[in-house]
This record gives sequence, structure tokens and C-alpha cells, in this order.
Amino acid sequence: MSTQKFATNALHAGHDVKQTGGTRAVPIYQTTSYVFNDSDHAANLFSLKELGFIYTRLNNPTNQILQDRLAAIEGGTGAVVFASGTAAISTGLLTLLKAGDHIVASSSLYGGTYNLLSVTLPRLGITTTFVDASNPENFEKAVQENTRAFFVESLGNPKLDVLDLRGISVYAKKAEVPFIVDNTVATPALLNPIEHGANIVIHSLTKYIGGQGNSLGGAIIDAGTFNWANGKFPEFTEPSAGYHGLVYHEALGAASYTFKLILEGLRDFGGALSPTNAFQIIQGLETLEVRIQKHSENALELAKWLENQEEVSWVNYPGLATSKYKSLSDLYLPKGQSGIVTFGLKGGYEAAKTVANTTKLFSLLANIGDTKSLIIHPASTTHQQLSEEAQENAGVTKDLIRLSVGIENIDDLQTDLKEAFTKIPQQDLV
Ligand SMILES: *Cc1c(COP(=O)(O)O)cnc(C)c1O
Repeated sequence: MSTQKFATNALHAGHDVKQTGGTRAVPIYQTTSYVFNDSDHAANLFSLKELGFIYTRLNNPTNQILQDRLAAIEGGTGAVVFASGTAAISTGLLTLLKAGDHIVASSSLYGGTYNLLSVTLPRLGITTTFVDASNPENFEKAVQENTRAFFVESLGNPKLDVLDLRGISVYAKKAEVPFIVDNTVATPALLNPIEHGANIVIHSLTKYIGGQGNSLGGAIIDAGTFNWANGKFPEFTEPSAGYHGLVYHEALGAASYTFKLILEGLRDFGGALSPTNAFQIIQGLETLEVRIQKHSENALELAKWLENQEEVSWVNYPGLATSKYKSLSDLYLPKGQSGIVTFGLKGGYEAAKTVANTTKLFSLLANIGDTKSLIIHPASTTHQQLSEEAQENAGVTKDLIRLSVGIENIDDLQTDLKEAFTKIPQQDLV
């Protein structure tokens, strides 16, 4: 594994320029398939006797560079990229779990993930117990005999709760289940969950890693640390009917899960990333460290400023001295706390909608992690499909506005919000 530091890996890892004809930029290999030398070569590739490219749904040289780079910056042994963060999460779970299995998850999750776990997976016989993740012991209390995974977000979207990853990882280890961490909001530039006991890290590359709001993508990084031969995952230790009797754990050891994601996850569910999107995401990844520092700086300054505005009733940002997550943030996110800020308006639901409707620099849309500033009112949009109780557990109150603070000039961002506050109707001010 690379001993180079983050910024260097983000620019170079995975790309040997001699392998790509000397191109300094990572080229886009826009092809669906690869010419075999002869039928024996093809047979060897299909049987894994030889590693190589077969078909872009399984792998592609541009995607491979992105995969190797992500593994390097998260400290994993392998990575697989997908068409979106959601494809990564669903394929990642379906590659591990079967009907009758159970997940323990934080209740503070991205809305789409919450729906996957609470509505769609139960239809396939995979159930989830959601717990208040602020106390790691709650994970242990929810463990059942059929529990096969813990799932959390390192920095919850949009609750912005910083989790005690080490505390939770102790209970995952005790329960002998993989600890899966969605690290999208924190980014690998600010936090590496594998250092704190995560076995599997997931990203929506659509957000800060791509960073410019132009391409969807997702990734799974495998720490290679989980013991799949502990008796709870027979599909890793028994011959796979889906891959001519391959015994993953025996044949591939620490790379078992990475290969299973490709050989079964991508082959059967098909959520492959387009090489052109991989290229766009690589452009973003190369500047992630400098961008996320600016996002974090702007977000902290804006959060402090919001605390002093008379229209605002509360502000949530893990880097604020007033945040209840400040001490965990000092421990897990000392380099910066990323770009998401939430706040409430004294005027509640109506005032929040007015502000979201009125800002000009902050675009009203459902995304985060763009270089440009974004605003949304989750109760009426991203979290609308959740029950009131689930909204509350996810930290989505009716008055909450979520900002994804971009890297514009901070004065202009403040002016834009201040202007919008003046448009709140008088009767909605209190
Ligand atoms: C956006 C997001 C996802 C889903 O990713 P897509 O690329 O939109 O499918 C998953 N988790 C978190 C924390 C997210 O913010």
C-alpha cells in the first residue's frame, strides 16, 4: 500500500503513465468490451486464472484507476465503483445479505438509504433495526442472532451527528459483523473510517469527491479486515453456484468481498459506472483536499454568522463551540467539518420555505457537495416521504434549512442569505 500522503495519492495513485501511453491525464477508455488474444485467453479471464478486462459492466481501465485511487486514499485493500452512491449501497448490501438477515443501522441516514432499509429491503426479507447512534451501546442492544451488518454515516446527512466510530466498531467486532460506514459527507480528506474500525466504507462520489455537481457515481472501499470465515457468511466459504464453485474466502482471502462485488454484484445487478463519469470524478478527486478545506472554512464562518442573525433560532454545525458534537468533532474531524450547515428560522416551516425560495447564489436543489452553494428545505422535499417520527429521528424538523456551503466568497454568501431573510413575511418572523 502507498506510503504517500493524501494530496499526493489523490493526484497520482492508480495511474502508471507508462501503461496509458504516457498520458499525463487519466484517459477515458470509452469502450464496452476488450479484444481477447484467443479463446484460451478469454477462458482464463473468465475463470480468474488471469486478471484482465472482459466487459465494462465488470471493469474498465478508467474505472480501475479511480478504484485504486479511492482504495489508496481511504486505506483499503480494494475498491469498486458504481453508477451512483445508491447503487453502491444497495449492491454492497445485497452482495452480503440474504432473506432472513438483519441490519442494525443509525436512524440518522440519508433519506434514500433510510427508505431502502425501512421499506424496500424488508420486501426481500432483510430487516433493519434503527437505533439512536449517539450511544454506541444501542447497537449492541439491537443485535439479534441473525444480525449480519452495522450501517452508519460517519457524519449524518442532514442531522450532522458525528458518530463515535471507534465505540460502535467495538460492538460490531463483538457481534462478528462487518461495520459499514457511509463516509460521503465527511470525505476521505477529513476522516478515514477504516482507521477507526470500519470494515467497509461507502461513498456517493456524486457529492464532494466529484465535487462539481456534474456526474453521479458511487464507491465501496473494502478494508480487507473482516473475517468472512467466522461462520456467519457461508456464501464466502462454500462453493458459489453463481461462479462455477468458486470459494471466495479460500481463493481470494482479504480480497473476497471486493471480488464478490464485481463477480456477483456488478454482474447480476449491473450498476456499473460510465467511464466518462469516472473521468469527471477523477478530475474532482484530484482537488478534493483543497476544496474541502475551503468548504469547511466557509461553512464554519457562515454558521458563526448565522448564530448572530435575529431571524435564526438555532444553528447546527459540528465545528461550532455550541454544537453538542463538538468534542466528537475534535476527535474525528480535526481538519475540518465539511460544508453542510443546518439552521432553523423563528418563523418555522413557512419562513424556511420563503428563504429557500428567495436566495439567488444558494441554488434550491436536492444535492450536496457542489463547489456552488446549495439550499433545501428537507421537510418538504428530500425527507417528505418519511413518517413524522422517522423525520424527527433523522433530525429533520419543520423549520430546518440545509445549506451545502460552496467555495464562493463568504461575504457574498452572507449578503444572499441576509437578503432572503428580509423577504420573510412579517407574520412569519416570530
Ligand atoms: C447522496 C447520498 C447518497 C446517495 O448517493 P447518490 O449518488 O445520489 O445515489 C448516499 N449517502 C449519502 C450520505 C448521500 O449524501
